[in-house]
Amino acid sequence: MFDLPPRALEMRDQVNAFFNARVLPNNRLWREQMRAGQAVPDIERELREDARELGLWNMALPRLTDDEPGTRLSNLEFTAVAEVLGRLEWGSRVFNCHAPDVPNMELLQLFATPEQRTQWLEPLLDGSSGSAFAMTEPDVASSDPANLQTSIVRDGDEYVINGRKWFASNASHTNCEFLIVVGVTDSDAPKSKRQSMVIVPRASQGLSFKRDLPVFDHVSPTSTHPEFSMENVRVPAENLLGEEGAGFAMGQARLGPARLHHCMRAIGECEVLISLMVKRSAERSTFGKRIDEYGATQEAISLSRIELDQCRLLVQQAAHLLDVVGNKVARKQISMIKVAVSRVYQAIADRAIQLYGARGVTNDTPAARAFGKARAFRIYDGPDEVHLQTIARLEAGEQVLDGLEYYLDEE
Ligand SMILES: Cc1cc2nc3c(=O)[nH]c(=O)nc-3n(C[C@H](O)[C@H](O)[C@H](O)COP(=O)(O)OP(=O)(O)OC[C@H]3O[C@@H](n4cnc5c(N)ncnc54)[C@H](O)[C@@H]3O)c2cc1C
Repeated sequence: MFDLPPRALEMRDQVNAFFNARVLPNNRLWREQMRAGQAVPDIERELREDARELGLWNMALPRLTDDEPGTRLSNLEFTAVAEVLGRLEWGSRVFNCHAPDVPNMELLQLFATPEQRTQWLEPLLDGSSGSAFAMTEPDVASSDPANLQTSIVRDGDEYVINGRKWFASNASHTNCEFLIVVGVTDSDAPKSKRQSMVIVPRASQGLSFKRDLPVFDHVSPTSTHPEFSMENVRVPAENLLGEEGAGFAMGQARLGPARLHHCMRAIGECEVLISLMVKRSAERSTFGKRIDEYGATQEAISLSRIELDQCRLLVQQAAHLLDVVGNKVARKQISMIKVAVSRVYQAIADRAIQLYGARGVTNDTPAARAFGKARAFRIYDGPDEVHLQTIARLEAGEQVLDGLEYYLDEE
């Protein structure tokens, strides 16, 4: 068995103890409060304060400095913790380790000026505000960022922003204070130098929300995906994040860890689904046999275990590489886990639904929601095909074996 660093196991055990004692038993209450329309359920607020006091806070941020609240873990160390957080849809939020705030915090840690840190990063680290990342546009194929049309034009001491965006997760949530908006500052520049990022307060004049998009017919009050337009939205020039034209490179820096964290959390959720499959199939019988005695059931559970453990090892490898060689060098492994985990996640959710029969398609188990999330995961953070293209291109550039001519005979 591959052993994680002792510190990772220690933190995982602490998080696990808090999760099992405090978070999980409150899942029903959280759901009731959420259904009653609380955008941040009261129980979530209460648990966040307790988790923070215990130092179980901001663990997904490898760059935390000593004056920032929380506990710094490497990406590899965080894999163990993130799995626990992934077992509930709201688990990561209790520990301030949730998307899109964590990737935005990483972006701000890397590129914000001291003034931007004070104004935008510190409240996120404290957990007193929320944020969104707005890249995708309804009018263009946004998996190719070179297509983006939103314009960001310098006008004196301000930038003026015009464009339409959608699926900027959390942007319409009441806790969202600002959006990091990606747009074009120089349409004549080479493709990778056209875009920039600006910080846009959610309350800006000219920014109007049109609707919250349902995902598989579901609109969650706690996790929104809005469509909105920006018409002559003006922000001070000092809201430019990083340098003009650096938006594409910054986006890549943000997406590496973001993809990794989504994969880690999905693995935790898949563990729950496998346990639920085992439980259910041991409890029910058909035609004189327990359901877990059928080969089809055994195959569903066994394949899920094999595929999930493969994914975990791939994710640990990618996390380790991100720690030691960085996002750029680890990009093949990041693309690999994105494709592998989203597919396995969907397959395991599908098997869990099947084993639960009609109950599997209701909200009485987490399987149906997981299936929807897994299906969406094959699109967000970059569609599968784009990652497969990246992997194939990088593979083509890596000649690893000598003497291939000796394997090839002339016809
Ligand atoms: C739940 C959810 C949350 C999201 N959160 C955010 C967010 O917070 N911020 C944000 O900016 N965006 C977010 N998105 C949007 C997401 O990142 C985009 O949907 C994604 O990048 C794809 O862009 P697109 O929808 O424009 O698809 P398109 O670019 O139009 O692509 C459509 C399809 O074309 C095919 N395709 C594209 N390129 C290739 C290729 N190279 N080879 C083969 N086939 C290809 C693929 O099948 C792909 O799915 C979210 C999406 C979802 C579903």
